[in-house]
Amino acid sequence: MPQLVEIGRLAVQPQPDTLHVPEMEKGVGCDFSSYLLVPDTSLDERIRAALDRLGSSVVLLGHHYQRDEVIKFARFTGDSLKLAQQAASTDAKYIVFCGVHFMAESADVLRQPHQVVILPDLNAGCSMADMADIGQVETCWAELEALGKLDVVPVTYMNSTAAIKAFTGEHGGSIVTSSNAGRVMSWAFTRGERVLFLPDEHLGRNTAFRMGIALDEMAVWDPDQELGGNTEEALRRAKVILWKGYCSVHQRFLPEHVDRVRAEHPGMRVIVHPECRFEVAQKADAIGSTEGIITTVVNSPEGTAWAVGTEIHLVNRLAKTLPRHTVVSLDPHVCVCSTMFRITPQHLLWVLENLLEGNVVNPIRVPDGQRHWARLALDRMLQLK
Ligand code: SF4
Repeated sequence: MPQLVEIGRLAVQPQPDTLHVPEMEKGVGCDFSSYLLVPDTSLDERIRAALDRLGSSVVLLGHHYQRDEVIKFARFTGDSLKLAQQAASTDAKYIVFCGVHFMAESADVLRQPHQVVILPDLNAGCSMADMADIGQVETCWAELEALGKLDVVPVTYMNSTAAIKAFTGEHGGSIVTSSNAGRVMSWAFTRGERVLFLPDEHLGRNTAFRMGIALDEMAVWDPDQELGGNTEEALRRAKVILWKGYCSVHQRFLPEHVDRVRAEHPGMRVIVHPECRFEVAQKADAIGSTEGIITTVVNSPEGTAWAVGTEIHLVNRLAKTLPRHTVVSLDPHVCVCSTMFRITPQHLLWVLENLLEGNVVNPIRVPDGQRHWARLALDRMLQLK
C-alpha cells in the first residue's frame, strides 16, 4: 500500500458543503509546455512515483477509449457513468478523469462534497456533446411549446454537457446510457406523449425502433432550421424527436463495412455500438454499449471471430486480452476518438506533479444551479435501475 504523505495544502480537509477552490487550485502551477520535453523513457517512472506519493488522496479513472499509455495507470476503467460512481464511492479528494469534458462534468455532479475533479487536458471535448448547445436546445423547446400541447419529455444521453443534463432535469426528463436507453424511454412515455431525444440521433433512432416505434413516427430536429426543418404536422405525428447530433467516431461505420466483413470472413460475427447509424445497426448480429460489447465478446466461445464497431482502443485491447478469439475493427481505417486521444502521459504527469506541489490544474466545476438539475436528471435514471 503506498504511503500517504503530507503534500502541502492537499492535507487540509475542507468541511463538506463549504468546499471552495482555493486560489492555488484555479489552474495555476507549472507550465504544461515544460512537460512536452520530458523524455518518454522517464514518463512512466515519474507518473508511478507521483501516484505512489499521492496515495489514496487521488483516484485515477480511465475510460475504455483511452490510449494504452494512459489507461494502464487507472485505478478504475469503464464507461463514464460507472467511473463517476466509482470515484464518488472512494474517499479520494482528487478525481483525475482520463476521459473527455462531459465525463469529468458528470463526475463533478456525482462527487462527494470534499472531492475535486480534474481533466488532464481541457481540450479533450466530445464532438457529440458539442452538437447540442444549450441556447439551441432552449430555442427548440420554445418552438415546440409554441405549437401547444405536444406533451414532450426530454431524454438525454449521458454524452452531453452538464447544461443539457440540467435542462433535462428541470423539464421533467431523465438521462440515459447506451445500455438503459430503452428502459428510460419507456418511462418517459409514461410521463408524456413524445420524447425529445438529445443529442445523439442514432442512439435515439436505434432505441425507439427496437421498442416498436416506426421510422415514420420519428422526426429529426436540425437546430439550424426553423422548427428543426420539420412541418408542424410532422412534429405532431412524431412520437420521438431526434436531435441532429452524432458521434464522429461511430458514425464512420457504414453498411458497406458489414457487407465486406460478411463477404471476406464468412462466419465472423458483427457487433456494433448503438451510436452507429441505423443501417449499420440493422445489419449487425448484435448491438451493445461499451460494457455490453466487452461482456458479449468475452463470454463468447473461444474461437469466435468478431468485427467490432466501436472506438479502436477498446477493440485493440479486446483483441490483445482474448488471443483465442479473433477480434478486429469493423472499419479497416482506424476509428479513434481524437479528442480523448488528446490526453497524453505528459498531461497526466503534469496534473499529478502539480498536485504534489499543492496546485490543482484543470479543475472541472459544474455551477451549483446546473448541478442540482443535472443530478435530478441522473437520479431519475438511477432510480429506474
Ligand atoms: S467516442 Fe464519440 S461520443 Fe465518445 S467521447 Fe469520443 S466523440 Fe464523444
